Amino acid sequence: MPIATTNPATGQVLKTYDPMSDEQVDAAIERTDLAFRDLRRTSIAQRGRWMSAAADRLDAERDDTARLMTTEMGKTYAAAKAEVTKCAAACRFYAAHAERMLADEPADARAVKAVRAFVRYQPLGPVLAVMPWNFPLWQVIRFAAPALMAGNTGLLKHASNVPQTALYLEDLFRRAGFPEGAFTTLLVGSQAVDRILADPRVRAATLTGSEGAGRSIAASAGRNLKKTVLELGGSDPFVVMPSADLDRAAEVATTARCQNNGQSCIAAKRFIVHADVYDAFAERFVANMAALRVGDPMDADTDVGPLATERGRDEVDAQVRDAADKGASVLCGGELPAGDGWFYPPTVVADLRPGMRMWSEEVFGPVAGLFRVSSYDEAVEVANGSAYGLGSNAWTTDPAEQERFADDLDAGSVFVNGMTTSFPELPFGGVRNSGYGRELSALGMREFCNTKTVWVGEGAPSAGAGAHAE
Ligand code: NAP
Repeated sequence: MPIATTNPATGQVLKTYDPMSDEQVDAAIERTDLAFRDLRRTSIAQRGRWMSAAADRLDAERDDTARLMTTEMGKTYAAAKAEVTKCAAACRFYAAHAERMLADEPADARAVKAVRAFVRYQPLGPVLAVMPWNFPLWQVIRFAAPALMAGNTGLLKHASNVPQTALYLEDLFRRAGFPEGAFTTLLVGSQAVDRILADPRVRAATLTGSEGAGRSIAASAGRNLKKTVLELGGSDPFVVMPSADLDRAAEVATTARCQNNGQSCIAAKRFIVHADVYDAFAERFVANMAALRVGDPMDADTDVGPLATERGRDEVDAQVRDAADKGASVLCGGELPAGDGWFYPPTVVADLRPGMRMWSEEVFGPVAGLFRVSSYDEAVEVANGSAYGLGSNAWTTDPAEQERFADDLDAGSVFVNGMTTSFPELPFGGVRNSGYGRELSALGMREFCNTKTVWVGEGAPSAGAGAHAE
């Protein structure tokens, strides 16, 4: 994939970049490694001042940054502005809470025959971040804010279609005051990742992206014994039970499916509806989806802009055609519009069956699959029938059922009567083919820390040290 800004609303290539050479990458890794030696010695309070300065710049530069994101990957300008604001809030959150999250944790010294014993969290070193284009600022900030606050440095390999956003991020942290090299953008294609991961100065990697990229990076990390966090795809279930508020459920279902032009890992993708309310929900949901306005993402009246890439749009179209050809019902949308840009209409497909691509694959566009089920158990079976396990949604006002869904849905999160989203206060991540490890909260910050056990004895011969060796 060329490293280039191409406007998805027009298909026009606006700017291209030559990939960095191996020598340039090596020099960048060297700078990042040197910066780590500085950064790890700075106080958390100092890092917090730099992180707060980054937040202030994000707020001040919101409109221009949002315009850049819309130009590079097609999300609506309104959504892009909200993304910048969310990033500033996450920077402030980690600036305010890192000290507490990284504080030494005392252990029961007597139980371990010590005078003093505690756990200390220390940074690992340069971390490679391989990131996707769909939330081009947020995906990076949710890694970078906790990682830099912990004293790690970052090497960003961003998606090839968002190079200007990638360069903006490097510039942002530099202007905020972080040491030169603390956060570096590498303009390279995906084939360069294996070599970077093999470099002994690079201590760990995080990927947000597809299952295929996850398998490849995990294999490379395995060969090189590097710690990884993988945030991969999802095909989140959205279960609607008879007690649900159907108007609200159908409204949130529409947003959950079509936010970010349908290109979110935690978008609800499979709508699993109890037979008692299936027709009533389907009628509302299809009406909402069909009413969304598709068009120029800079226009304030637009709900759904273009898909980010031509390849992505072709893939979505092929998945819907495959289902229709094999007997599924297309209740709205489903037709490629004429004209420039990679637009795809909000689409609802019912009567899906095993053997259709939409039954088992993630659909990365504004296309919903509708499933009819006749019981709680069948709802859970269909919901857990995907190989993914990122987020999940259940709509029910029955408290006992809410508890059961929280237990039974096999996913990294369960949102009851609401849409899956991410908060800096809560861990984020998946199970099964959606990856492993967590981002956000204290857990996310500690993924790239050395959780060090410190045991201090009396120093006298009778102390308990070495009671038994392992
Ligand atoms: P993608 O093709 O996997 O690309 C994501 C990043 O990985 C890009 O920087 C890409 O570089 C790189 N990459 C791709 N193949 C690679 C490989 N074999 N080795 C090393 N790096 C590789 O993903 P996408 O199609 O752009 O993004 C959509 C996917 O990301 C969906 O599956 C979505 O669900 C998932 N996603 C997950 C989360 C989450 O938090 N779990 C969030 C957002 C998106 P190039 O651009 O140079 O190819």
